[in-house]
Amino acid sequence: MIRFFNTLSGKVEPFEPIDPGVVKLYTCGPTVYDYPHIGNWRAYVFEDLLKRFLVFSGLRVTHVMNLTDVDDKTIKGANAKGVSLEDYTRPFIEAFKADLRTLDILPADHYPRATEHIPEMVGIIKVLLGKGVAYRKDGSIYFAIDKFPAYGRLAKINLEDLRPGSRGDSDEYEKESVHDFALWKAPKEGEPVWETEIGPGRPGWHIECSAMSSKYLGRTFDIHCGGVDNIFPHHENEIAQSEAANGVKFVNFWLHCHHLVVDGEKMAKSKGNFYRLADVLAEGYDPGELRYLLLSTHYRKMLNFTYDALLQARAGRNRIRDLIFDLRKIDRSGQPNPEIARLIGTARAGFIAGLEDDLNVSEAMAALFEFVRAVNIVISRDELGHQDARRALDFIDEIDGNVLACLSGEMRVSGTAQAKAEARARARVQRDFKLADDLRKELLDEGYVIEDTKDGGYRLKRV
Ligand SMILES: [Zn+2]
Repeated sequence: MIRFFNTLSGKVEPFEPIDPGVVKLYTCGPTVYDYPHIGNWRAYVFEDLLKRFLVFSGLRVTHVMNLTDVDDKTIKGANAKGVSLEDYTRPFIEAFKADLRTLDILPADHYPRATEHIPEMVGIIKVLLGKGVAYRKDGSIYFAIDKFPAYGRLAKINLEDLRPGSRGDSDEYEKESVHDFALWKAPKEGEPVWETEIGPGRPGWHIECSAMSSKYLGRTFDIHCGGVDNIFPHHENEIAQSEAANGVKFVNFWLHCHHLVVDGEKMAKSKGNFYRLADVLAEGYDPGELRYLLLSTHYRKMLNFTYDALLQARAGRNRIRDLIFDLRKIDRSGQPNPEIARLIGTARAGFIAGLEDDLNVSEAMAALFEFVRAVNIVISRDELGHQDARRALDFIDEIDGNVLACLSGEMRVSGTAQAKAEARARARVQRDFKLADDLRKELLDEGYVIEDTKDGGYRLKRV
C-alpha cells in the first residue's frame, strides 16, 4: 500500500489513482529565463523518484510538465537582450532537456509551452468571467478570491487578514499580501500581446498550469507536485481557478519537496553560494553522484548541500559500485547459496516498504546497504558462485535501472586522466614500473584511484 503526505489534508494518506492502474501526474516545470539551479534539480529529481517508483509498483503514469515561456521574468530577460521571447527562451529549453538526460530523469509525456496554449487559458478566463468569479479592471482581468470560499485551504491561509478589493499584477508575492491576482494582464509597452476574445493582453503565470493540466490530464487528476515555494501563491491560485471554473475537485494529492540550502544558507547569486548543474560537474563530480545526494534526503526535509555532503554521497555510492565491480569479477562455480536468495528477498521487501511509506528513501537505502554488507561477507568467505553473483547483480540492476538510476552508470573520467591510465597500462606491459607508479600518483593527485583487475585490465575510481 503506497502512502503519501498530502499537503492539502496535512496528513499521510493511502494513495489510490482515480482510474485503476493509471496515475495522472502534473509537475510544475521551469520558467525558461535562466538555467535551473540545484534547488530546482532537487524538485525534478524528487518527482522522478516518485514517478519511477509508481511505475516500478506496476502503475502507468501519464506525466505532464509545463514550460513557462511567458511571464514577468522571461519578458524581462528577452527585453534586456533585445530579442523575441521565442529566441530568448529556446536555448534555455534545449539546455533544460539536455540536463534532464544528464541526471537520468525520465522524460515527461508532454512538455506543453504556455505560449502555445493561450486559447485554452482564454477559455477558462471566459468561464470565470461568466460565473462572476473574475472581474475586469483597467484592461486586466483578476480572480476575486472572496468569491471562492475554499481559497487558502492548501497554504492554510486565514482569509480574515484579507484586505477586500486589494489586487496585484506580479506573478509572485508573499502570503502576507494575499490578494486578487491577475489572470490576464493588460497590454504594456515592451510586452508581448495576444489579441483574444477577452481582449488584448497576455496571461498571468498561474492560469497556464490550470489550462495545460486539464487539457492533458482532465479536470480532476491524481498528483500535482512542486517545491514548497510553489504552494503559495502558485498552487493555491491554480486550485482557485480550476475549481471555480470546473466545479469539480482539481487534484487529489499535492506533494511538495522542501528547499535546498547551501552551507545552511539560502542560495543566492549575491552570496556566491549559487550552483547550477554545470558548476557541480565542473568540480569533477559525476551526475550520478549529484543525483544520489539529491535523492538520499527525504523530500519533505530541508537538504543542506555542501561539497562535503557530495563527497559523502560519493563514498556511499562507491560502496555499492564496489560491490557491483566485485560481483562482476566472480567466476567461481558452486552450488547456489540459499543465503543469497534470502538476502535479495529481504532487501527488496525493505526497499519497497521504505518507498511505499511516503518515499522514505532513508529506509529504502538502509535495506540496500544491509544487503551490500551481508553480500560482502559471503564474498569474503569465498562462498559466492557466479550464479549467485549474477542474481545479486540482477537485483541491484532491478532497483537501480528502474528506481534510483544513479548507481551503476559509467563514471565520467577527464580526458587527461583517461590518457594517464592508458599510459600506465602500457608502462606495466613494458615492465616500466617506475613510470607506472608515477602515473598512479599523478592520478591520485587528480582524485582517481586506479585498481588492477585479474584479467589485466584496470578500473578508475573517484576518491
Ligand atoms: Zn505550475
